Amino acid sequence: MKRAINFNAGPAAIPLEVLKKAQEEMLDWNGTGMSVMEVSHRSKEYEAMHNEAQDNFRKLAGMGPEWKILFLTGGASSQFFMIPMNYLYGGRKATYIVTGHWGKAAVKEAKRFGALDIITTENADGTFTRIPRQEEIKVDPASTYVHMTSNNTIFGSQWHYWPEVGKVPLVCDMSSDIFSRPFPADKFSMIYAGAQKNLGPSGVTLVAIREDFYNLAQSADALPTMLSYRTHAENNSLYNTPPCFSIYILNLTLKWLLETVGGLENMARINEEKARILYQAIDNSDGFYRGPVEKDSRSQMNVVFRLKTPEMEELFVKEAKANNIIGVKGHRSTGGIRFSIYNANLVENVRTAVDFMEDFRRKHS
Ligand SMILES: *Cc1c(COP(=O)(O)O)cnc(C)c1O
Repeated sequence: MKRAINFNAGPAAIPLEVLKKAQEEMLDWNGTGMSVMEVSHRSKEYEAMHNEAQDNFRKLAGMGPEWKILFLTGGASSQFFMIPMNYLYGGRKATYIVTGHWGKAAVKEAKRFGALDIITTENADGTFTRIPRQEEIKVDPASTYVHMTSNNTIFGSQWHYWPEVGKVPLVCDMSSDIFSRPFPADKFSMIYAGAQKNLGPSGVTLVAIREDFYNLAQSADALPTMLSYRTHAENNSLYNTPPCFSIYILNLTLKWLLETVGGLENMARINEEKARILYQAIDNSDGFYRGPVEKDSRSQMNVVFRLKTPEMEELFVKEAKANNIIGVKGHRSTGGIRFSIYNANLVENVRTAVDFMEDFRRKHS
């Protein structure tokens, strides 16, 4: 069996240990004589695992019982409308800090529900190449929340400080860098992430809401039942059938982070090393590879760069594939090359990729 050297942006690589464990337990999970996909979500076996996944999430995030941990469906994209539906009622407004494609997508939905103040780093040509500085972030204290995106998956930039927003609750889309490094939970009122980049398979979206912010959500009666945070919090994310298998793989991945990796400090060290190796290969290529993002805004998760021409980029993707290196084509909206080096990607994979980059450059410069 040959495993691919997988730099997919999402769904993305899952730790081999997690896949093996799932394989081992596929036919008889937890002594039930069934796979986890076949048991009732109302069974005590399932519920114990569901609660364990919440506990593991809390442990990694450093979140206490004042945080509601929800497992929702519809992807991070559904949070783009659920947040304003639950919070922008009765003429309330919000502030959106837009640093890339997904922040823009969040604004598109939120606009339907209320007035927005927008702080953006979009360039005149529609690209994004940097994170704003603190002095650019002016938040009206009348805002109900501030929304930000911690890592810009498509443009390849990432916040390396957390913004001061006064007393306004901070909401963060962490889909593409959650648990890649420690973060101070107490800076935030809500965080959310689709699981399929750093935490497991698609199908489950993690939503963590701190009690004080949760209490501001509008009443469940005013919303479709499934779109109210209150419905899911009051029913421990078991109001309807949850994505059981995705939650199971999520739990195995969280355990892997806690036990095999040894926590987020260790994970951050490994991720810094991977990013350092890749950016060094770009910066030392005499301009053959060009990273468009400002250096202090570069992402440690999605390393984005360009070659001289789109044809050369196409050839790069093709030759990479011939070397078992897959998933390196940039997003369809931007072109270029993107290596997504989420938690499950090993340092060895990055070294192999860099060796390939050097060979390619020698051959084609
Ligand atoms: C991938 C991504 C999304 C969209 O996630 P879906 O789960 O596909 O809806 C949103 N935000 C960020 C930062 C992402 O990387």
